[in-house]
Amino acid sequence: MVSPGADLRYLVGYPALPQERLTCLVLPALQSGHFVVPELDRDEASASVHGLPGIHVRSWREEEDPVALVVSLLPGSGAIAVDDRMWAAHVLALGAALPGRELRTIGRVLGALRARKEPAEVAALREAAAAVDAVMAGMPERLRPGRSELEVAAETRAAMLAAGHVAAGYVIVASGPNGALPHHAADDRVLCGGDAVVVDLAGMMPSGYWSDCTRTFVLGEPEPELAAAYAVLRDAQEAAVAAVREGVPAAAVDAAARERITAAGYGRSFVHRTGHGIGLEVHEEPYIAAGNDAALEAGAVFSVEPGIYLPGRFGARLEDIVVCGPDGAERLNHTPRDLIVVDA
Ligand code: ZN
Ligand code: ZN
Ligand code: ZN
Repeated sequence: MVSPGADLRYLVGYPALPQERLTCLVLPALQSGHFVVPELDRDEASASVHGLPGIHVRSWREEEDPVALVVSLLPGSGAIAVDDRMWAAHVLALGAALPGRELRTIGRVLGALRARKEPAEVAALREAAAAVDAVMAGMPERLRPGRSELEVAAETRAAMLAAGHVAAGYVIVASGPNGALPHHAADDRVLCGGDAVVVDLAGMMPSGYWSDCTRTFVLGEPEPELAAAYAVLRDAQEAAVAAVREGVPAAAVDAAARERITAAGYGRSFVHRTGHGIGLEVHEEPYIAAGNDAALEAGAVFSVEPGIYLPGRFGARLEDIVVCGPDGAERLNHTPRDLIVVDA
């Protein structure tokens, strides 16, 4: 049972948003499937599955009970998998109507399918990367001393839309000490000369595929420790990208970055995994992390984004999206990777 979200968009191309009205693709293992949708969405839902063999649209009117309809379409026995993001309200209602039936999540199956991108998906991710690269190119003009992070973020959000995104998922503008907080968004802190500024931008394109890129800027000449830490970071990101190849464990890519950073004495300042898969969601499989010994597959697309964070002082992160191939990685982002010095 798959409800609106990335899994449903992946399977049938239907981009509906999750809502309280139940929309559910019911796919028995060995029989034809049904697409249960509210009557008011019938036309759009039908158009999205048109041409997919063996999927019948079943709509329900406002006075009908969609849970009973879904239950009537399920085989009489066997475990049932639901998509990982289905609302708890729907899962619990379906579970109550199916006493004694085992409910599981489908993430292990669909995550593995979605991790292996087809050429059209790589093309969509390449387009997304080009869009965010164009926004990054305009950051030096927006990062002026005297402006607040919120002002810069608002302008950047508009630039994300102008560059072709339909939604700016997150716009991180983290200046000075705020840069040491990896998920700091933007607040009223005013930029001043000497600040390092971490800018991490992610947005969704009309295709449904995401961009995600981080660069670190400095307003004026960097203080010596920022320059030194950034040199380590750049080297670590390079080493991690160089480690990417079909068949290599994801953990080895994380280790390649972490070893460089640890050897330079910043190991405890690199507080997160090295990367995450990206596609119809901004974070998806494969996760580039210690403990993930799964071999990378050709066609996997993920971020490589080590960071160094010195609490109370500054942070730095460098993030590109790469495609794993049989002989190595292809980077999709082409924004220059040096610490970007902005005249202050
Ligand atoms: Zn994140
Ligand atoms: Zn990011
Ligand atoms: Zn990321």
